[in-house]
Amino acid sequence: MRQIDHLINGVSLAATSGRASPVFNPATGERTANLGLASVEDVDAAVAAANEASTEWRRESIATRTKLMFRFRNLVEEHTDDLARAITLEHGKVLSDAAGEVARGLENIEFACGIAQHLKGSYNEAAATGVNVYTIRQPLGVVAAITPFNFPVMVPLWTIPNAIAAGNTYILKPSERDPSAALLLGELFHEAGFPKGVLNVVQGDKVAVDRLLEHPTIQAISFVGSTPVAKHVYETGTRNGKRVQALAGAKNHMVVLPDADLDVAADAAVSAAFGSAGERCMAISVLVAVGDVADELIEAVSDRMGKLVIGDGTDAAAEMGPLVTEEHRNRVTNYITQGAADGASVVVDGRNQSFDGNGYFLAPTLIDHVTTDMSVYTDEIFGPVLSVVRTATYEEALQLIQDNRWGNGAAIFTRHGGAARAFQDEVEAGMVGINVPIPVPVGYHSFGGWNDSLFGDTSMYGPDGVRFFTRPKVVTSRWSSLAESSVDLGFPRND
Ligand code: NAD
Repeated sequence: MRQIDHLINGVSLAATSGRASPVFNPATGERTANLGLASVEDVDAAVAAANEASTEWRRESIATRTKLMFRFRNLVEEHTDDLARAITLEHGKVLSDAAGEVARGLENIEFACGIAQHLKGSYNEAAATGVNVYTIRQPLGVVAAITPFNFPVMVPLWTIPNAIAAGNTYILKPSERDPSAALLLGELFHEAGFPKGVLNVVQGDKVAVDRLLEHPTIQAISFVGSTPVAKHVYETGTRNGKRVQALAGAKNHMVVLPDADLDVAADAAVSAAFGSAGERCMAISVLVAVGDVADELIEAVSDRMGKLVIGDGTDAAAEMGPLVTEEHRNRVTNYITQGAADGASVVVDGRNQSFDGNGYFLAPTLIDHVTTDMSVYTDEIFGPVLSVVRTATYEEALQLIQDNRWGNGAAIFTRHGGAARAFQDEVEAGMVGINVPIPVPVGYHSFGGWNDSLFGDTSMYGPDGVRFFTRPKVVTSRWSSLAESSVDLGFPRND
């Protein structure tokens, strides 16, 4: 059985805890590896390596940091297929989707290749007579990221580039369900020529996370995962004096107004609900049909669902793969059963399609006449289940989103500029799509939801990412006329 270890100080190290977790191929149900889970001592070793590397790394020139980041960018691009394969074999998503995830991750490395521009401070000459004032941004020191299973390459790349280009050293704790792709990313990072200890990968579970949250040397924690764990990470990390950003779960609504192009809307709804088997924090899980649009829209969506090819993600013909674990597949199936019991109509029932073998497959499901008290509506299902809520008006549709506890993404489909503009202005969500169902920002903007979708003050990557991983220092200097100085106990005034 393949063994998956840590990558600490540039070398592969086995876990010392004696604890391990199985890794499966979701398309076959086969156990493919054993993942060693970190002990507190393993985490401490990674922090010590990062701390030692920190002294020199923070002083490394911007020119060198940029050159290394460029090399890393090129290696990741060259190894897109290897990374995609590593993702598919443990996550289950189809290879083309996995390669798309790598491409979106690359955007974040490209942004950090411009770190010289992003770290530029500001300067005021003659703030007072002979006095100049300037602000510089400095790295925090040792930082850590804890990432979810659903984007095992892209989400680590949301933080690795900016954190490290800004001069921090870094510890990644990937998901224990699909750890191999992050490890490959770590190997490419070292191949690019970065010094040992700048990036460390610690494999583990709650034990590792809780140690990172309390370790006094760690300055900042960047987390992405489910809402309850995000809350735990935010509360524990901040209680321990750390800077924390914790991105959490979601329930994204797509509003379709009666004037929308229904073919465009149906294509978008199917792509955004069932891509990656719905295991995306920006997946559309609620389709809000406004006015008389519902029947025609549901027909167009059902029609497209019937043509989707579901299969092993390594099969080039497959458009949707399995769910990540058997337990998760069963959980999603139970939601469909509960929705039906609560009185919703299951228009397309994924439970009816059977699959050969032991993979964790579940075909897409469409549920109509969903109401806001049903668990299919209130909970994040994180699977290939699309609920339809019918509303009479735009105002009612908007209110649904405002009343929802999450606020990650929200989309509107319409041909009416005024309606789109009103939606953009009013909606309680951090990322808004106008005729775009999955509005994941490009790498030079920042990613972050509102309400229970993000705990903390800054979004991830882009300009906010640089802000999160640096702190400002303001220098007030006077070099002229030192000979003219005198004792003055008054508060310094700027004259
Ligand atoms: P998860 O919360 O189970 O795990 C995330 C990370 O936390 C993993 O590294 C895991 O090892 C660790 N963890 C799990 N339980 C823990 C505990 N009790 N204490 C400490 N650490 C713990 O999430 P997941 O199932 O891997 O990912 C899916 C979730 O992530 C969904 O809710 C999805 O919406 C969310 N997500 C959000 C975003 C976003 O940007 N808002 C992006 C991707 C995924």
